[in-house]
Amino acid sequence: MQSHYEAVILGAGINGTALAKALSEQGKSVLVIEKQDIGAGASSHSSRLIHGGLRYLENFEFSLVREALKDQQDLLENYSDLVTLRTFYLPLYAGSRPVWMLRAGLWLYGFFSRHGQKAKEITKEEFLALFGALKAEGLKAVFTYADAKTDDYALTCAIAAEAKARGAEILEKTQVESIEIDTEKITIHLAQRSLTTALLINATGAWVDEVNARFKLPSSYTIEKLSGIHLVIDRVLVPEPLFLQTASKRIFFIIPEKETTLIGTTERSESGDVDRIEVNEEDVEYLLRESNNYLKTALKRSDVKEVFIGTRPLIKSAKDPNRMSREYKLDLHRIGKNRLLHIYGGKLTTFPSLAKKAAEIVMK
Ligand SMILES: Cc1cc2nc3c(=O)[nH]c(=O)nc-3n(C[C@H](O)[C@H](O)[C@H](O)COP(=O)(O)OP(=O)(O)OC[C@H]3O[C@@H](n4cnc5c(N)ncnc54)[C@H](O)[C@@H]3O)c2cc1C
Repeated sequence: MQSHYEAVILGAGINGTALAKALSEQGKSVLVIEKQDIGAGASSHSSRLIHGGLRYLENFEFSLVREALKDQQDLLENYSDLVTLRTFYLPLYAGSRPVWMLRAGLWLYGFFSRHGQKAKEITKEEFLALFGALKAEGLKAVFTYADAKTDDYALTCAIAAEAKARGAEILEKTQVESIEIDTEKITIHLAQRSLTTALLINATGAWVDEVNARFKLPSSYTIEKLSGIHLVIDRVLVPEPLFLQTASKRIFFIIPEKETTLIGTTERSESGDVDRIEVNEEDVEYLLRESNNYLKTALKRSDVKEVFIGTRPLIKSAKDPNRMSREYKLDLHRIGKNRLLHIYGGKLTTFPSLAKKAAEIVMK
């Protein structure tokens, strides 16, 4: 094991591993330090969608949607065993967004998408014949469109394996004890050894502020921590993925997996340490209640086989969490001969663009 690396990355989530792969490809010696295991953070606790985010169009986040849909196409082409295109159903019930709005949104989403599959409207009868578990009352219209699904943990492990194959080292279950930065070098002290670098990358996702505070690293942004839970129901409820609207018009989904159903997600602002964030039973009840508004046979708490929680790192901007952007920021600091790059925010979907841009910044 070396004592000097051209780049040291903190965090082996999708972004840290993708950047390790990008820098190794350029011939850099790279070490990734992960305090838990590869993909243990948000990258294995997401909704597992590789998508542009249809609902972000409502906030006019066109550049985010366009970039994410470009990344979606790259991932569909390059990781076809892990990222697959699926048909999503969008039933509109009384009280949900107007039909014209969805039609316009889907048209725009289709315009930015690159897979070439068009959204379409299907009849209520067609939908109800397929989705026998759903209520017919109040159903106004149904649309379908194509978006992609993945296994987030498997995807992160695949990227980590590619980074390793190109020479990057990944140390798991490793805590950084301290970081010293002088004008010549950055020294990172681990429990058993110390190493140096001139380029430190903080890719610790929702932990980014905690890392900056602990090691007194300069930074230009702070994040809002927004936790989200998913329910794993012990059986398959629907044949295909579908998006529904809550009573307050938030979007949530019911997605069939092999032998279970995934229902998600929630958004809760968190102020404590990321490692102490726990599932709130109110959020479980909320997802059950909202699902039961649409299901003929109501789900009970005992139908929930598992609940998992992840924390999104969103850049602090607005007060309303629902309107906070999923865009990412790359924050570069020069200290003497050294460089420090923080990654803030982002989505699972946008890791290819993020890693490409971050590599370009640090290779300059
Ligand atoms: C509920 C939820 C649903 C989501 N759904 C989607 C979706 O469907 N589609 C989508 O595109 N995106 C989705 N996202 C967003 C996506 O999951 C994240 O943007 C992405 O996984 C972030 O990756 P990351 O590598 O930046 O962070 P993480 O995956 O969180 O990785 C950060 C890593 O840093 C490590 N770490 C922390 N502190 C230290 C330290 N001191 N030293 C070393 N390592 C440290 C952590 O252990 C962790 O492994 C969702 C997120 C959540 C929470």
